[in-house]
Amino acid sequence: MNILIFGPNGSGKGTQGAIVQKKYGVPHIETGVIFRQNISKKTPLGEKAKAYIDRGELVPDDITIPMILNRLKEDDCAKGWLLDGFPRNLAQAEALWIALEKEKMKLDYVIEIDLDRDTAKKRIMGRRLCKMDNNHPNNIFIDAIKPHEHEGKTVCRVCGCEDLSARADDQDTNAIDKRHGIYYDTKTGTLAAVNYFKERAKVITVNGSKGVKEVSEELMKKLA
Ligand code: AMP
Repeated sequence: MNILIFGPNGSGKGTQGAIVQKKYGVPHIETGVIFRQNISKKTPLGEKAKAYIDRGELVPDDITIPMILNRLKEDDCAKGWLLDGFPRNLAQAEALWIALEKEKMKLDYVIEIDLDRDTAKKRIMGRRLCKMDNNHPNNIFIDAIKPHEHEGKTVCRVCGCEDLSARADDQDTNAIDKRHGIYYDTKTGTLAAVNYFKERAKVITVNGSKGVKEVSEELMKKLA
């Protein structure tokens, strides 16, 4: 099962992605996670990517496209993959489509989580990452997924871990606006990539403004 998942930063894409990943048992490949792992390990790829990520810009296609196409060739992807954060623009969508056609690989589903820009921005700024699992949903601005208070400390609502942090690029409004500018761009940005697949694959669109449970229920119904 080969799946792409799209949604603006703040749409709950990571959370829904983790649910889809469990349903199909395929690796959840997140471009942003791969970059952040390389940055923390101070690899040459991480050093190159860091400045772009800090500014909220896309890492150039000549770095990102081969990185992902090579990742899809690894053994754990033999039975499929869930790709999250790629493609992020029209050029990446075209490169992926060409690579899939060449390998005679089918794209089974393209998931689009639809959310307006203002709501997405508010959600990003409230997002808190749990050290045990970044996909544990915690957001100080959303009642349904507010972190818990325990003995005067703010802890992960899922596992109780005390190590909750905000990503630096989640607190930088310029970086958020840039990332959303790229996402909502229907000419060459991420929505252009989504539209590109609407003509080529089965695209499932879900309303991301609802709670985590409602969104996943809608998604599971449509995936069934
Ligand atoms: P994310 O965790 O998906 O929000 O990604 C964090 C950052 O990684 C983005 O703001 C970009 O700088 C970079 N990034 C992630 N995916 C891509 C991609 N497909 N192409 C270029 N840069 C990317």
